[in-house]
Amino acid sequence: MKFQRVYVLGSTGSIGVNTLDVIARHPETLSVYALSAYSRIEQLAAQALATGAAVVVVPDEPARRRFTAAWPAGRTLPEIRVGAAALADTAADSQVSTVMAAIVGAAGLPAALAAAKAGKRVLLANKEALVAAGALFMKTVRDSGAELLPIDSEHNAIFQCMPHFGRAGAATHPAKGVRRLLLTASGGPFRTTLLEKLTDVTPDQACAHPNWRMGRKISVDSATMLNKGLEVIEAHWLFAMPLERIQVVVHPQSMVHSMVEYDDGSILAQLGQPDMRTPIAYGLGFPERIASGVGLLALTSLGRLDFEEPNLDRFPCLRLSFEALRAGQASCVTLNAANEIAVDCFLKQKIRYTEISRIIERCLHREVGRVRSGLDSLEEILALDAETRSFASQLCHVK
Ligand code: NAD
Ligand code: MG
Repeated sequence: MKFQRVYVLGSTGSIGVNTLDVIARHPETLSVYALSAYSRIEQLAAQALATGAAVVVVPDEPARRRFTAAWPAGRTLPEIRVGAAALADTAADSQVSTVMAAIVGAAGLPAALAAAKAGKRVLLANKEALVAAGALFMKTVRDSGAELLPIDSEHNAIFQCMPHFGRAGAATHPAKGVRRLLLTASGGPFRTTLLEKLTDVTPDQACAHPNWRMGRKISVDSATMLNKGLEVIEAHWLFAMPLERIQVVVHPQSMVHSMVEYDDGSILAQLGQPDMRTPIAYGLGFPERIASGVGLLALTSLGRLDFEEPNLDRFPCLRLSFEALRAGQASCVTLNAANEIAVDCFLKQKIRYTEISRIIERCLHREVGRVRSGLDSLEEILALDAETRSFASQLCHVK
């Protein structure tokens, strides 16, 4: 494996921490060049100290001061870069070979896009970037020759089951011989909860995922299954696959991470523990397989694997995601931005769980009624994202 210097965007998050864990297992081939965080600056300082990062990126001057205050006397400070522009510019730094895009939300889009533009190996966890800017992102990867490796466990599983022959670029058409992608979903904590009880569920109940430990935003998305909706859109872009050829399958055990169905009747699946270090290690090591720290799956103790159809009445956010993908890119930007605001308001207990899908639906209806020309640039995408956020915030506050 070639030596890689990694820039971890969002290093203090769930994916960021798992990424540093895998990197630390391979000191001869993997090193940390830069780290970024938006909050928990003391944790960032501890990470920079442990990894010997040359650069850290923080959002503002108060964060810079907190970082310096947390740094032990007598140790050389890393270079501290400040602000959103520095976050993106560091991705293009000549010292960086690999970028882990693990910021949560559309806030991570400019930096992920900068990494793609600079032709780096891009490990993409930040699914919202692809939902908001799928066409632009994939074109950028194609034009720059960047390597794109999906880290979201389902897409990583699909990638592993695809006939890619060692290539990790941007697909322009569905792979030959592939009939459908089968995207598995756990169904989250409310898969069997009585529908009338959903109005009263709390943020902590929504974040108590049965199989995965993740950040709070993606945990709520898993409860509503909007996460699976975002993943359908993500799969559409990553594998150039039309919506009709992507099937969501509820699989409560989360052991089969997704599957590829072939024209000859074969279905290839990737199985493993629900631990993100497996897809992260796959992305870092590609095309080699490297140790991740994840234990093996004891097949004989699994007992059974169940598969069910998703219930779109129980999970209206899944239906809304299909509608957004059919309607086009502006609707996908809107779906994601409205959801980010609604989930944030739910986590702050300003709205009920069941309002999340209603707010997204109102934002989507408003968007579909508009006439618009293309969304070709990052600036246009970010403008629509910001405008949708302000409309969705108003809807949250009249509740
Ligand atoms: P998290 O909330 O645990 O961490 C988010 C990270 O992003 C933190 O380091 C935070 O400081 C940083 N951040 C937050 N807002 C920011 C902003 N405005 N600007 C710059 N940085 C900001 O999230 P996570 O669970 O690690 O998820 C990260 C991404 O990976 C998400 O897009 C998520 O959908 C995706 N993902 C996560 C998992 C998982 O297991 N956690 C699985 C698949 C995909
Ligand atoms: Mg996933």
